[in-house]
Amino acid sequence: MIKLYDENSYTSEFSARVTSCEECSEGYRIQLDRTAFFPTAGGQECDTGTLDGKEVLRVEIENDTIYHILKTPLAAGDEVLGKIDWQVRFRKMQHHSAEHIVSGLAHSLFGLENVGFHLSDKEVTIDYSGPMSAEELLLLERKANEAVHKNIKIIAEYPPEDMLCKIPYRSKLDLTENVRLVTIDGIDICACCAPHVKHTGEIGLIKLKDLMRHRGGVRLKMICGMDALFDYEEKLENVVRISVLLSAKQEETADSVERLLKELAEQKQKTAALSKQLAAAKAAQIAETDGCICVFENDFDTDSLRLLANEGKKKCRGMFVALSGSDDVGYSYIIASATVNLRDAAKEMNSVLHGRGGGREDMIQGFFGAKRAEIEEYFSTL
Ligand SMILES: [Zn+2]
Repeated sequence: MIKLYDENSYTSEFSARVTSCEECSEGYRIQLDRTAFFPTAGGQECDTGTLDGKEVLRVEIENDTIYHILKTPLAAGDEVLGKIDWQVRFRKMQHHSAEHIVSGLAHSLFGLENVGFHLSDKEVTIDYSGPMSAEELLLLERKANEAVHKNIKIIAEYPPEDMLCKIPYRSKLDLTENVRLVTIDGIDICACCAPHVKHTGEIGLIKLKDLMRHRGGVRLKMICGMDALFDYEEKLENVVRISVLLSAKQEETADSVERLLKELAEQKQKTAALSKQLAAAKAAQIAETDGCICVFENDFDTDSLRLLANEGKKKCRGMFVALSGSDDVGYSYIIASATVNLRDAAKEMNSVLHGRGGGREDMIQGFFGAKRAEIEEYFSTL
């Protein structure tokens, strides 16, 4: 079986003969005498595309044999036309070549080993063996983009064994024979079976967008080429919106948000203080009674309702019931009392007023599903 992607990574259409077709749980496992489909290998997800117009679900490699998984069968001996989703494949080539640049530089600059790599349609992550600072990340990104600007040729070849032992290349496995080396002159030499772009300039912008700790080392998220452009477009759209909303210059939006949050925190403190005063004033106006008192206050938050209930319980022998809500959505309640054991009373009141909640003996908190009139009626009879 000839690996066409190995000879020329730019082959997107090819003809091939079906050499076997066997049933499997997902449909059919098909072998060809030649293929341009790169299988799932080395952290990279397989190519997508079609064989004779039929969708290739997956491509896998076992003992150097490549299997194409299709829903429908293809007849052994038939000549078929293979087509690869070129946009998807090219994007993978850009990201994989970028990974070699970044990992080669991380090795030469900081002595870090690449210990993990995942390249899918959605995300690219690279794991390194040790820590990396924010400054180092920035340096790595700049150096990687310089390598792009130099438009260095990327060569993939199988050096003879006597040559191989003299070449200092990076490799995750201890390989001895049939080693395919991908060389980016002055940047990196690494053992790799995947398709690459021909020149570093084809990668476009390399953006290292996230750095997090991972298993004693770090994990980087990377985007390149058009993906990086789309990401920039999305981020710019956000910054423009924030800048208009805050009437701030684009480069000063973060400072403006920080100021705004500080102001908001101050306002919240003021509001809380005023609410407390208001609750105390409301409670002072309430006439004393032997029974229960119900007060509906929709503008009060939980803290203010609690304060109102605490002040209000001094005005009655029964329960002081502070509520906020509406007949449509129900009512949140806080009930306080100086005489009644509210823990005991809660069960019956929640049952009658379709509610839930509980708390301490002298204060409970919860929710009534009943209407205002029903609630007032219930507490007036206690
Ligand atoms: Zn590679």
